[in-house]
Amino acid sequence: MPSTRALIHAPWSASKVSTGLRCPQLFHFKYIQKLKEPEVMPETRIGKAIHKALELSLMGTPIAEATSTVRAELPSDIEQMRFDNLATGMPPFAARIGQFRKRRRVARQLVEYSLAVREDLTTTQFYAGDAYYRGVLDLGYLFEDDSIALVDHKTGARIPGTSITDQLEGYAVLAAAAFRHVRRFWLGIHWIAERSVEWSPAVRPELVRDELVPDLLDNIEAAALAVDDGPRTHPGSWCDRCAYRSICPASKDIRYEPVEYYEDDED
Ligand code: SF4
Repeated sequence: MPSTRALIHAPWSASKVSTGLRCPQLFHFKYIQKLKEPEVMPETRIGKAIHKALELSLMGTPIAEATSTVRAELPSDIEQMRFDNLATGMPPFAARIGQFRKRRRVARQLVEYSLAVREDLTTTQFYAGDAYYRGVLDLGYLFEDDSIALVDHKTGARIPGTSITDQLEGYAVLAAAAFRHVRRFWLGIHWIAERSVEWSPAVRPELVRDELVPDLLDNIEAAALAVDDGPRTHPGSWCDRCAYRSICPASKDIRYEPVEYYEDDED
């Protein structure tokens, strides 16, 4: 059973858990005060744009049309150039997906597919009041041989020391609850900037049940515990990309306070 503090902050998602674990102050701004982001980071805008272009193209819009539609919404030439650079990976990705679909018997394609579970891991609607954990799957393929491939598009850099299974365990848990007949889960990360798709070894439902589910529930509890003491700042390299840094006292200290350094201080 989840703790009361975990239930209070439900519904959880992968980014909500990682925000709670990383910085309780940011969690407070975003999920408790629900403050509008004071500044939207260019990386966030570009990431959303490329996700949108991929979604449109996977749903059948020609790539040139999909990219020009979302590109026009970016506010500066620099962001449009950065978008163009990432978008050069779309034709090879589409070609790879096309070949992959020819080789395997796909029963169903899932694009931007919402999934949610209750605290007892039974499925529910994404916006339902009893949703405990939820996520939106970027791309999935259900195959006729009772396996499923789950793909997450990432615009950022790889996180050293984390496996694909660590990063996508939430999606595996959600998909296992939604598609109970599935016997094998393939977890893939589409590294957009590197134009590569990295796959985990096949994951069996037993591994989801015995390892990924307890791990996910533990992470939710750890995040709930971390945010339970209120809005504590936890500065780190992630502050550079924090949309709330202009109103965070810790960030102001880090970025603007002059540092005086004397060699004698090292003694
Ligand atoms: S600037 Fe850093 S410390 Fe402040 S809320 Fe954002 S992530 Fe947390």
